[in-house]
Amino acid sequence: MWYWSLFALLLLSTTALAGNKVVLVSLDGVRWQEVFGGADPQLIVSPAYVKQPQLIHTYTPGQPEQLMPFLHQTVARQGVLAGDRTQSSSVTVTNPAQVSYPGYQELLAGFADPKLLSNADIPNPNHTVLEWLATQHSRQVAVFGSWQLLPQILNTARSGLLVNAGFMPLQQLHSERVHYLNELQLKTPASFAAVRPDIFTQEFALEYLRQKQPDVLYIALGEADDFAHQQQYDRYLQAIHHHDAFLAELWRTLQSLPAYRDQTTLLISTDHGRGQAEQWHRHGQTAALPGYPAPEGVAGSEQIWYAALGPDIPAAGLVQGEFLQGQLAATLAACLGLDYRAAQPRAAAALEFSQPPQLASGTAPVADHQGP
Ligand SMILES: [Zn+2]
Repeated sequence: MWYWSLFALLLLSTTALAGNKVVLVSLDGVRWQEVFGGADPQLIVSPAYVKQPQLIHTYTPGQPEQLMPFLHQTVARQGVLAGDRTQSSSVTVTNPAQVSYPGYQELLAGFADPKLLSNADIPNPNHTVLEWLATQHSRQVAVFGSWQLLPQILNTARSGLLVNAGFMPLQQLHSERVHYLNELQLKTPASFAAVRPDIFTQEFALEYLRQKQPDVLYIALGEADDFAHQQQYDRYLQAIHHHDAFLAELWRTLQSLPAYRDQTTLLISTDHGRGQAEQWHRHGQTAALPGYPAPEGVAGSEQIWYAALGPDIPAAGLVQGEFLQGQLAATLAACLGLDYRAAQPRAAAALEFSQPPQLASGTAPVADHQGP
């Protein structure tokens, strides 16, 4: 593991990287505890939370590479990870609500809005980095999400962004495959009213990527959070494993397309954390809010993580330091050679990764995030 000083990560030049593409993937409500620790030793043996042990019999506590092989075999060796609090690496949500809408707002706009404290179905008054890239920098942006509130969070009525989410058919693309997926998603039994099965979000996104090749693609997966709320630890773990397999497929697809190969940054994060131990299935409001009842206080909901992989990301594995959820918005813009913070001063600073001296002249070492 690299022991780097705070904020001393990677040099994101604002000129040399213009023309690059960025793909952001968020995994709703996936805890850093599973990302870095694998299956929880207490929860995985709990009859209350595991009704179908056969779904997860291959996951051993303390073996995160079994749960998320792409993240631990590819990203940890070729890119960076942050958020393992057992290794002095933290990523924190600053909005006090610590539920999804405020989390996506903070992730995509770069700052917490004290007026947005719930999952109310209202258009976001703030502009996100995605809207800024599309309207101010003529970048082609496409968003695919499982949760039906994403069009509101990205204020499509104002932003004009292409956001396909919830159970919306994909109408911007015409192929037999898309028509079939449009039919199939309505015929498939849905587990949740407001969140479609992630497989449709994934398939639409991959098809759009191949055919339209946007500059910026954001994919918001949602199932893990809902299985967690239902206290199904087996299906929560299975969803995380499926997310990781999708990330691997997405990366393979990007590397197979000349427009993306070796010039695309993949950013991965989440909207909020969750509680610990018996509170693992819940999340939300750990700080008092003006005008709101006393918080229920699900400690840990502010704790998240992120990962990055791409031509300008050093092969550093886990990076130590204290980072913020909001930094990802300006980082995303920086990957395209653009300074988001100059336009939106409320946004947190982009991650500044700098190559460690050992990497400057020689071969990149294999990072070992499991190290001491
Ligand atoms: Zn949730």
